[in-house]
Amino acid sequence: MIDLHTHSICSDGTTTPAENVALAVGAGLSGLALTDHDTLAGWVEAAAACERLGLEFVPGIELSTEDNDLSVHVLGYWVDPGHAALAEECARLRDERADRAARILDKLAALGLSLDPAAVAAHAGDAPIGRPHIAKAMVDAGFVPDLGTAFQDYLADGGPAWVVKHALSPEKGVALIRAAGGVAVLAHPGSTAYGVADETLVDRLCAAGLAGLEADHAGHDAETVEHWRKVAVLRDLVVTGASDFHGDGKDVLIGARTTSADVVKELRERAAPVAAGGREPW
Ligand code: AMP
Ligand code: ZN
Ligand code: FE
Ligand code: FE
Repeated sequence: MIDLHTHSICSDGTTTPAENVALAVGAGLSGLALTDHDTLAGWVEAAAACERLGLEFVPGIELSTEDNDLSVHVLGYWVDPGHAALAEECARLRDERADRAARILDKLAALGLSLDPAAVAAHAGDAPIGRPHIAKAMVDAGFVPDLGTAFQDYLADGGPAWVVKHALSPEKGVALIRAAGGVAVLAHPGSTAYGVADETLVDRLCAAGLAGLEADHAGHDAETVEHWRKVAVLRDLVVTGASDFHGDGKDVLIGARTTSADVVKELRERAAPVAAGGREPW
């Protein structure tokens, strides 16, 4: 069994890529994907650890996209790490994230919660800055008791301190992953800010070349998993399962949900051939 969605300190997780691999071994998994937000920075370390410990490494990314000002996360697996347009989008998102963090801090300050930008930067380290890093600084400052409250009361999409991230549309995100030779899977369809009933998003992404749906996400209850499994089967999408592990950042363990090695193989077979130059499809 393989966990197809985990984060490390290379984005907003709290464990190193090698620690994720060790945790996967401890959980009895046969493989592991590293899917940090908008970066491939942890691949080399995770691949080496998998090689050392005899696990299948599935290289991945969780690409931030925005649809009508709401976050939609698109997972990309086996993308070419040398693909220029993907690297450019990651660099653009990193800059945008830094800018957005400053604007979120402005909004928090206007609400009476002034944070030191250096405290947020310390949580992010070398990673692209995300809301969880800001949430941690809010907990440190004693403004909120925990990360969940920071999101619920301030940082969640549409919340009082939320600032939209200027990112590609989900269709373009899927097209970019395909152009980079990868396979695109819609992450946690039942826990997007979109709400659980929006199948039109899935239809739009299918038209853009979506290969799979993360129906079995650790944040989905049994009914939600079943719903999205049916949505996937009706559209001939591969159904994946994963934990979305974030270390201490989230109350879920590596291996909490998994995908069988056979399904991972099926997913890989849907990878688009790497675009050989020419016009990009977005
Ligand atoms: P960002 O990349 O800055 O848009 O932040 C997205 C990340 O924040 C997600 O991957 C989750 O780890 C976390 N997150 C988003 N919404 C919530 C929420 N309501 N409660 C806790 N964590 C959340
Ligand atoms: Zn995250
Ligand atoms: Fe996500
Ligand atoms: Fe994630």
